[in-house]
Amino acid sequence: MTSLHCPSALLPDGWFHNVRLEIDYDGTIISVESGAAEFGAERAAGPVVPGMPNLHSHSFQRALAGRTERAGPGSDDFWTWREVMYKFVDRVDPDALRAVTAWLYADMLKAGYTSVGEFHYLHHGPEGESYDDPAEMSHQIVAAAKAAGIGLTHLPVLYAYGGFGEEPPNPSQRRFVCDPDLLMRIVDSIALSTADDTQFAIGIAPHSLRAASDDMLDAAISTFSKSHAEAPIHIHVAEQLSEVEDCVLHTGLRPVAWALDNLEISERWCLIHATHLAGSEISRLANSGAVVGICPTTEANLGDGIFPARSFLDAGGSFGIGSDSHITIDPAEELRLLEYAQRLLYRHRYMLTTDTQPSVGAALYTGALKGGTQALARPIGEIAVGKRADLVVLDEANIMLTEFEGDAILDAWVFASHANFVKDVMVGGQWVVQDGRHQDEEAITDAAREALSRTLT
Ligand SMILES: [Zn+2]
Repeated sequence: MTSLHCPSALLPDGWFHNVRLEIDYDGTIISVESGAAEFGAERAAGPVVPGMPNLHSHSFQRALAGRTERAGPGSDDFWTWREVMYKFVDRVDPDALRAVTAWLYADMLKAGYTSVGEFHYLHHGPEGESYDDPAEMSHQIVAAAKAAGIGLTHLPVLYAYGGFGEEPPNPSQRRFVCDPDLLMRIVDSIALSTADDTQFAIGIAPHSLRAASDDMLDAAISTFSKSHAEAPIHIHVAEQLSEVEDCVLHTGLRPVAWALDNLEISERWCLIHATHLAGSEISRLANSGAVVGICPTTEANLGDGIFPARSFLDAGGSFGIGSDSHITIDPAEELRLLEYAQRLLYRHRYMLTTDTQPSVGAALYTGALKGGTQALARPIGEIAVGKRADLVVLDEANIMLTEFEGDAILDAWVFASHANFVKDVMVGGQWVVQDGRHQDEEAITDAAREALSRTLT
């Protein structure tokens, strides 16, 4: 058992001083006491908050960050970026995927993310051939999460078509193709290998409405639900306007409206990039209980559009954040951009506060904790008995935090953290980052550098 004494900590009911946590051998919090003595406990080196869930990741895309900012001929939009991504995808092998993913996950931990939802669609070998073990690449993701020490909700992807109308996949999508039968083989293999490990959970992710037919969606969801009735289901839903227009052309409905009419959208669902919403979609989606997965830095980088966050929150909707393409890895930056996009749109400050939470930083941080926890379906997101000890210690010695208390600490982190405030990070009761360094930083970085050199030359 570990005892940790926090000078201050964000508990479910707000900030408290002198919080003593008892953590059992498997990484679960078994006691929380405020106003407690430090005697015999390890002392946290600053304010302690629950680690942020990162609900949307395509780990291999970390290798492309900063490499797709040069304009090409013709229109330089999302679809051009996707072509660059496909070229890289042709060369990634299992070792490279594991190395790049472990590097990414270590960087996530250093930024304050303590769990991740991996929306994993890179299933096959370079020619589209199945590996001997069809779950090979998924097992590399699990191995990378173990190496880095991050909590993982693995979400293997159903991917059958290149576009609406059951358009055949194009050659660059050959590594992604996965029907409901293969999907369940991957699910079963990962569920079996991680069954006794509290760091892991399993879900599924139909890639998008354009990449799966109605019948395939039904088959995958009903088969998966027989063995995993409440496990999460994630889907890309309305990222690009052209995809919304295609959906209207083929179904007569916008994608979110179609999903609400046809997919029994509920609390177990996470709709990634519900960027383009219109009319009653906002209130219907909010009332469904589903979480919206917003990825502000990726959506900005790709020029997707601005999610109507204020209207969605007014309707009672839930949201979480993801770093998606990993152009940057920083929960503070995601939350800051989420707020700033609304400020620029409405020409107004304090856009995403709530009736009970006037601090913008605290409203954003606690909102994303709650939605992210629901989307990843693990006992995380709160410093409370029965939850995982996934903790982020902010650096009390950072001059930017001088004389900050309570929710103002989150305002400072979200809006004024030009240097990373995260000092130490604990996942499941184990320190994985101390004094800003990952426990296995050199080995993980060296392996990733070798993998990048090998796959990018
Ligand atoms: Zn995505």
